[in-house]
Amino acid sequence: MERLQKVIAHAGVASRRKAEELILTGRVKVNGKTIRELGTKVSPTDKIEVDEVPVVQEEKRYFLLYKPRGIISAVSDDKGRKVVTDFFPNIEERIYPVGRLDYDTSGLLILTNDGEFSNLLAHPRYGIKKLYIAKVKGIPTKEDLKKLEKGIHLEDGKTAPAKVKLTSTDKRKGTAIVEVTLHEGRNRQVRRMLEAIGHPVMKLKREQYGFLNLHGLNAGESRELTLHEVKHLR
Ligand code: URA
Repeated sequence: MERLQKVIAHAGVASRRKAEELILTGRVKVNGKTIRELGTKVSPTDKIEVDEVPVVQEEKRYFLLYKPRGIISAVSDDKGRKVVTDFFPNIEERIYPVGRLDYDTSGLLILTNDGEFSNLLAHPRYGIKKLYIAKVKGIPTKEDLKKLEKGIHLEDGKTAPAKVKLTSTDKRKGTAIVEVTLHEGRNRQVRRMLEAIGHPVMKLKREQYGFLNLHGLNAGESRELTLHEVKHLR
């Protein structure tokens, strides 16, 4: 969210001072409603007009980041910790992450300044497929994994059916690698699901998001999505 006068100035319509004047004199509309308050905050999805002419906020940009562990999925952090937008120092548009990966989770994260696109992808009804690879404590049994596949009761309700696969085990260390495919995206969902069957997550990575994967990228690297990819995700 940004201050309305700043967005108008950013779009090159007027200087910041002039933008304030435009607002105060009732020449600015947000989503069809005249706004005279200078403090008003707007998001990239809000439709802004000056004298009935739409203000084009910014060119739309779409990126795929291989987020490393130990990074916050936000555009700023009040404790000064590193955030995902720090990986885009030369991008002027105000991009932000679509959904979140936990601080300690690595993997595929999309960033964009296209609010409509971001809302669509994040909407539970859209149900985009996400593949996670988890290293867990202990070795889950087939029955444990079946429970996750069917859906398990968490404090915010039963999870939808998921695909779960045990891909390797280390009997000496007492750990296992489990692949979990979800269409939901609740907060810390994979960690909570595995915790619920008694196998806490030691390491977690998001390997796929829809048809997108991390091929060709190392942790901390990113690339712009192609137009084709963006169209295909919509
Ligand atoms: N599930 C989790 O537990 N953490 C994430 O970061 C993503 C999905």
